[in-house]
Amino acid sequence: MSEPLVVLERVNKHFGDLHVLRDIDLTVGRGEVVVLIGPSGSGKSTLCRTINRLETIESGSITVDGKALPEEGKELAALRADVGMVFQSFNLFAHKTILENVTLGPVKVRGTKKADAEKRAMELLERVGVAHQAEKYPAQLSGGQQQRVAIARSLAMDPKVMLFDEPTSALDPEMINEVLDVMVELARSGMTMIVVTHEMGFARKAANRVVFLSDGQVVEEGTPEEFFTNARSERARDFLGKIL
Ligand code: ADP
Ligand code: MG
Repeated sequence: MSEPLVVLERVNKHFGDLHVLRDIDLTVGRGEVVVLIGPSGSGKSTLCRTINRLETIESGSITVDGKALPEEGKELAALRADVGMVFQSFNLFAHKTILENVTLGPVKVRGTKKADAEKRAMELLERVGVAHQAEKYPAQLSGGQQQRVAIARSLAMDPKVMLFDEPTSALDPEMINEVLDVMVELARSGMTMIVVTHEMGFARKAANRVVFLSDGQVVEEGTPEEFFTNARSERARDFLGKIL
């Protein structure tokens, strides 16, 4: 594997009595694309959220590029910006234009000059295919276009790693591929990515590794080919039987 970029060691978390993450060990190398897969409720979203401290953990450690995320404050905002996150719901600012959505973070958090932030934002909007919509508001765009803007907005912060939590599951079917295509291109450009998705096509095209989570534990991992055709554990085979 390439040099480790995201390292989770024996991470544990409870929600009350529910032991939602159990001794999670996961190392993602620089430039690696990991697909996280598993039944609903297995802890995939929680795992993603712990990586940028949207959730705290009780034990274990998480580092990104060798640094643990601080608990709070300005330092947290800056380090959190190293971890881009794209959710199922697009979470764009409804009262800001597409361009403003993409420039806001760099200007406020990174201290980038507005003109520079706008130039870079237009390049990113071009890259995800929505540059012509820059002056519009989110509600004027389709779901697929909004999700591509959300990706551009994350990229504008120059993150070291991008997390995607079921980025296509709220989209109409005809819009899924336009978002996956952007993600495949991003993977090929060398971005380190952790992607929660059940889109096998994406996993086969772009993932170096599939990690299967069940009941808060990493049960099995392997290449997409190994995992989809030859899962070893009963739990993984049972799960695949339901989704394939
Ligand atoms: P997944 O993304 O794999 O579907 P989640 O990480 O969302 O799983 O949830 C894992 C478990 O933790 C589920 O049982 C869920 O109900 C529970 N859970 C998630 N968030 C919270 C929360 N904020 N408070 C209490 N329980 C939660
Ligand atoms: Mg989830």
